[in-house]
Amino acid sequence: MDTNQFREAAHAAIEDIIEYYNTLPSRQVVSSVSPGYLAPQLPTTAPTTGEPWSAIQPDIDRLIMPGLTHWQHPNFMAFFPANASFPGIVGEMYSSAFTAAAFNWLCSPAITELETVMLDWVAQMLGLPECFLSKGEGGGVIQGTASEVIATVMVAARERALGRQAKGLEGKEAEDRIDACRGKMVALGSEQAHSSTQKGAIIAGTKFRTVSTKREDNYAMKGAEVKRVLEECKANGLIPYYITVSLGTTGTCAVDEFDAIAEVLKDWPDVWVHVDAAYAGSALVLPEYQHLTKSFVHFDSFNVNMHKWMLTNFDCSCMYVKKRSDLTTALSITPSYLRNAFSDSGLVTDYRDWQIPLGRRFRALKVWFVLRSYGISGIQAHIRGHIRLGEIFGSLIKTRPDVFEILTGPVFALTVFTVLPRRKAGGGTRGDLPDSSHERYLNDFTPDASGQALMEANAVTQKMYERVNEKGEIYITSSVIGGVYAIRVVSGSPAAEEKYIRRAFEILVETAEEVLGEPGN
Ligand code: PLP
Repeated sequence: MDTNQFREAAHAAIEDIIEYYNTLPSRQVVSSVSPGYLAPQLPTTAPTTGEPWSAIQPDIDRLIMPGLTHWQHPNFMAFFPANASFPGIVGEMYSSAFTAAAFNWLCSPAITELETVMLDWVAQMLGLPECFLSKGEGGGVIQGTASEVIATVMVAARERALGRQAKGLEGKEAEDRIDACRGKMVALGSEQAHSSTQKGAIIAGTKFRTVSTKREDNYAMKGAEVKRVLEECKANGLIPYYITVSLGTTGTCAVDEFDAIAEVLKDWPDVWVHVDAAYAGSALVLPEYQHLTKSFVHFDSFNVNMHKWMLTNFDCSCMYVKKRSDLTTALSITPSYLRNAFSDSGLVTDYRDWQIPLGRRFRALKVWFVLRSYGISGIQAHIRGHIRLGEIFGSLIKTRPDVFEILTGPVFALTVFTVLPRRKAGGGTRGDLPDSSHERYLNDFTPDASGQALMEANAVTQKMYERVNEKGEIYITSSVIGGVYAIRVVSGSPAAEEKYIRRAFEILVETAEEVLGEPGN
C-alpha cells in the first residue's frame, strides 16, 4: 500500500467507522455467532499475493461484524464499560503511524515526556495526593491493563519486602535469608478484590489470602478484618508483603475502608498497599468524590483504567507510585545494548524500568487528545451523566419490590439486584409477605434445608438473567456475591441515554414476570 492507496483506504475506513457509530443503536448488542464460526469462512493459509483494499474492506462487514459484541452500544450494560471516543481513536491513529517501541527516553523523547506530563495532569485532575506526582519521588506510567499494573507492583512489593528481610546482611547470608523467606511471602486482598490480585500472587510466586467482607458493610473490606488476617498470617509463620484495597470492586463497586486500613497498616510498614480503582477511579474527577483519596498518602500505589470510563480507547491503565525507586530497584536491569549516555546521566526516565515488558506504545497521545478535546468539565459531565443514569435505574428497580431486590447500589452507575421468587406455600408472591425482604433469604442460607430459599432465589435470578441476554436487546452480566446470585447493570457507554436505561428496565420486568409465571418459580 503506497501513500495514495493509504489515503484512499484510510478515508474509506473512516467513513465506514462513522457509519458504524451512526448505526450502532440499531445493531444487536451481543454477537450471536456460534463458536468456530470464522475459520470455515477464511482460507486456511495467508494469501500468496497481496490484495487491494477494495477486496479487504468488505470483509469487515461480512466476516467480522457478525462476531462482534458492541461495547460502545447504548445497550451494553455488562461488565464495566470500555469507553472509546473520537479523540481517542485519532490518538491511536497517530500512535500507530509513529510506531516506536519507546522503552528508553532516547527511543523517542516525546513519547516519554508527554507520558510524564499527562500522568501528572490525570493525578491532579483526580485529586491524588502530591506524593504521586513526578516532581517528588513518585510518578505515573501508563500500562496496558490493571492486571498488568497489579502484577508489576506485586513484584516490586515482594522485592522490597525481601530486601528489608535481609537488611544489614550481605552476600551469601543475605541470599540465604531471602531464600528462607520466599516461601512465606503472602499477599492479601478482599474476597471482593478483582481476581488480578490472586493472579498477581501466582506471577510473584507467593501465597495469597483473602479478607472476608459482609453484606451489611456493603462488601467493603474493613480495617479490623485486615488486622485479623495479618495477625493470623504472622501467627502461621507467613510474611505479609502486599495488599490490594479497592475503590470500586468488580462485583458491587464497594469502596474499602481506607482510613481504618491505613491506621492498621501503620503497624505493618513492610506491607505494600495498592489502591485498585480500575473502574470507579474515574469518578474522582468529580470534586464530591475526592475525599476518598485523603488516606492515599499512606499507600504505595494506585491505578485507574482510563479505558474503562474515561473516554480513552483501550488500552490505558494509569499506574502511580509514591516512590518510583521501589519500582526501578525491583525491575531495572541494564544490559549493554540498552545503555546510553542519557540513561546513565540519571536525568531521564526510562519507562522500561517501571513495567514488565521492554517495548511500549505511545499511549499518552490519546490521553492528551482526550483531555484537550473534552477538558476536565467535559469528563466530569460524562461521569456525572452516567451516575445519574445509574440513580434513575436504581429508583426504577425500587418501584418493583414485588419482583426485584437491590443488593447494592446504585453506586458509580452500577446497580446490583436479584429477582425474588414467588412464595411456594400459600400462593401469592414474595411481595405479598409482610417480611418481604431478601434479607430473610440470606439469613436462611445454611447448608441444610433452610438454604433452600436462597437456592431458589439464586435459580430464578439466574434464569431471568440468562433469558434477558438470550433475547439480545440488552447485554448485562451477573455475579455471585457472598453466595447470592445477582445481576449487575452498569450503563457507562458514551452512547448511554435515559431512554435506553428505561427500556432496559422494561425488558427486565417483562422477563422477570415471564420467568416467575412459569411453573416451579
Ligand atoms: N480491577 C478491577 C476493580 C476490575 O473491575 C477489573 C476489570 O474489570 C480489573 C481490575 C482488571 O482490569 P484489566 O482488564 O485492566 O486487567
